[in-house]
Amino acid sequence: MASACSIRVRGVVQGVGFRPYVYRLARANTLAGWVLNGEEGVEIYLEGAEPGLQAFVQDLRTQPPPAASIAEIEIRSAFPVGLNEFTIRDSQHQHRPTVRISPDLPVCDACLKELFDPIDPRYWYPYINCTNCGPRYTVVLGLPYDRPNTTMQHWPLDEYCDAEYQDPGNRRFHAQPVACPNCGPSYCLHSADGDLNGSEASIRKAALLLSQGRILAVKGLGGYHLACDARNPLVVAALRERKYRKEKPFALMARDIDIARSLVDLSEKAASLLTSTARPIVLAPAKMKLAGVAPDNSELGVMLPYTPLHHLLFAAGAPEVLVMTSANRSSEPIAYEDDEALSRLSGIADAFLIGQRPIARRVDDSVVRAGAFGPAILRRSRGYAPGAVAAFPNKRPILAVGADLKNTVTLVVDGQAFVSQHIGDLADYQSLRAFQETVQDLISMYEVRPDELLVVHDSHPQYVSTAHAVALGIPQLLAVQHHRAHVASVLAERGEWETRVAGVSFDGTGYGDDGSIWGGEVFVGSVSEGFERVAHLRTASLAGGDAAAQHPVQAAAGFLAQIEGLPDLTAPPFLFPERYRQALELVRKGIRTFDTTSVGRLFDAAAALLGFTREVTFEGQAAMWLEQLARSAPGALPYEFPFLGNELDFRPLLRSIIVDRLNGRDPREIARAFQRGLAEGVSDAIATICEVEKLKIVVLSGGVFQNELLLEDLKGLLENEGLQMWTNHAVPPNDGGISLGQAALAAFGQSDRNARGELCTNSRSQ
Ligand SMILES: [Zn+2]
Ligand SMILES: [Zn+2]
Repeated sequence: MASACSIRVRGVVQGVGFRPYVYRLARANTLAGWVLNGEEGVEIYLEGAEPGLQAFVQDLRTQPPPAASIAEIEIRSAFPVGLNEFTIRDSQHQHRPTVRISPDLPVCDACLKELFDPIDPRYWYPYINCTNCGPRYTVVLGLPYDRPNTTMQHWPLDEYCDAEYQDPGNRRFHAQPVACPNCGPSYCLHSADGDLNGSEASIRKAALLLSQGRILAVKGLGGYHLACDARNPLVVAALRERKYRKEKPFALMARDIDIARSLVDLSEKAASLLTSTARPIVLAPAKMKLAGVAPDNSELGVMLPYTPLHHLLFAAGAPEVLVMTSANRSSEPIAYEDDEALSRLSGIADAFLIGQRPIARRVDDSVVRAGAFGPAILRRSRGYAPGAVAAFPNKRPILAVGADLKNTVTLVVDGQAFVSQHIGDLADYQSLRAFQETVQDLISMYEVRPDELLVVHDSHPQYVSTAHAVALGIPQLLAVQHHRAHVASVLAERGEWETRVAGVSFDGTGYGDDGSIWGGEVFVGSVSEGFERVAHLRTASLAGGDAAAQHPVQAAAGFLAQIEGLPDLTAPPFLFPERYRQALELVRKGIRTFDTTSVGRLFDAAAALLGFTREVTFEGQAAMWLEQLARSAPGALPYEFPFLGNELDFRPLLRSIIVDRLNGRDPREIARAFQRGLAEGVSDAIATICEVEKLKIVVLSGGVFQNELLLEDLKGLLENEGLQMWTNHAVPPNDGGISLGQAALAAFGQSDRNARGELCTNSRSQ
């Protein structure tokens, strides 16, 4: 006698070959029924003999398709209706779609084999893909995920592709972006010498130009890259000059993992990140110097080819290590539209390798590191976005608009938190446009009505993101304090809503409850009850406010003004420039200064004393420089960083640096003693707080915790105290994680009740 059941599968289950997989599995177990893409996931109805049903469910649980990520399988028994065969039914679209859109996938081995097989119809075709691989988020225009809702809508399938698309036994069954050279888009090469058409000819010429030392703009999955030979110092220097990018490291693409291993020291964990389906840029210790690629940096960022086009470029003889950097000038977001790329990059690229398939939205490469606590995501974008990162306990739709730097936005729909790709610095006009597009994109994709939304923003009244949140005109508006959002982001990832923790939030800049610039805060509490600030870095003055982040000596002035017997730092060995003296004047007179507890700025002050006296050219540069200096030291005893009352006093730390510098001590040892001292002081403070509050768990978040050496030191120290540490894994510890934390606190009504309308202009000097 036949049995029957209905199954609903939630998670990343659409656009990843799930229906053909279900079809084959049902047939293999002689089951009748159907499968379809519903709005909450994949819906399956099965009938047949009981052992067949059980075997089906067993395989579904243990051997899903490689690109799928199952969040939940719901099985209900049903009454057999007497079907004779198994079919794939049309997609359903009635209510709000809550299905997850798959992130983009790297080209699979089966497609690669065909790509280089001379008798295959898709031989050398740069848009080859199947249900196991290829573009997803970067081609989706709407849900459900079907071809008319993708950027492939203008390329009707020919007979060959259609036959594969219709065949449930084929790897390309309902592969929405499927195409071949006969019916699909192609690549061309545009340069001052004229245009070259035809994918193969264009790609071969592009590879030749790269090996001749030219700079190419290459259209990829989520935008344009600027590519050049990483081993050619002249072209790398030319790229820096044309892109107005002075020192920020360039990402590299290595032809294969062996080449990657020759560039960087790849741990097993780093290698598995490098080859993971997200194919991110992995930061790892450099094994060789590549002039101009990552100046003053002991790490290199490396990724592997992920599109068929990348593989073809290398096969055509492109240099085996390429600089592959987002195509933009300085802080602008990645260019992704052809006209925009041609105009914005005309003075940078010698030639353009342009593919016809439009890009639905800009998605940068992601950046990760195999850290002391597991994988750390520093930029979450291609391969990860727009995956859900957390399951919320309540169903209210929430839009959290993040912070102004490293912006991301989070949309919570039906309890699933979707975090957008990295958007960037909202001070830039192009980024602001990208921000607005992303907000609209998410709201319309998940069909959320604006009037049911709760909108959450940072409590900084002058943030661009705050202004945009207000401008949406949605009455349900909440502000969440920046550093509480950092701590909440870690807990949201883990679904820990009630757990009380000590939350350490260290970063560069954030608007505090009292209107001053916070960035060295310790909280106690939980997401559901909120976080109370229990300790912080001793308050310093910051001449010029946030602008001081550009100039370590300017940031240093307000900290150093509190040191008794301060020597003249414009003299050797410090040689601070004139800007320092001006800043010190402002601090002493109390003009245009702001109170701050920023640990990021404390790092800047220490870096300045150690010799980083110039302007920074990218965010966090001085702190990274200091960390690398400390890493190169053989070892050093920690400086004092006492915790008294509820303050961590930075004065002994800075005093020690000055004394040791005057005594001619090796700057590497001084940097190490500073970092170690910082870790010990923080560890003592946390241990004290945890004992008083009876806490066992410590949360670390904020941009400062991108410093791996600090994490490694803290790990050892806190474990000795019997404390457990939680850090970010799904979203970045930097401001890229703020939107998730905002959403979490807002979901529990934890808004910022102390937010004030203006930035504090306290001019007290100390
Ligand atoms: Zn494939
Ligand atoms: Zn075709």
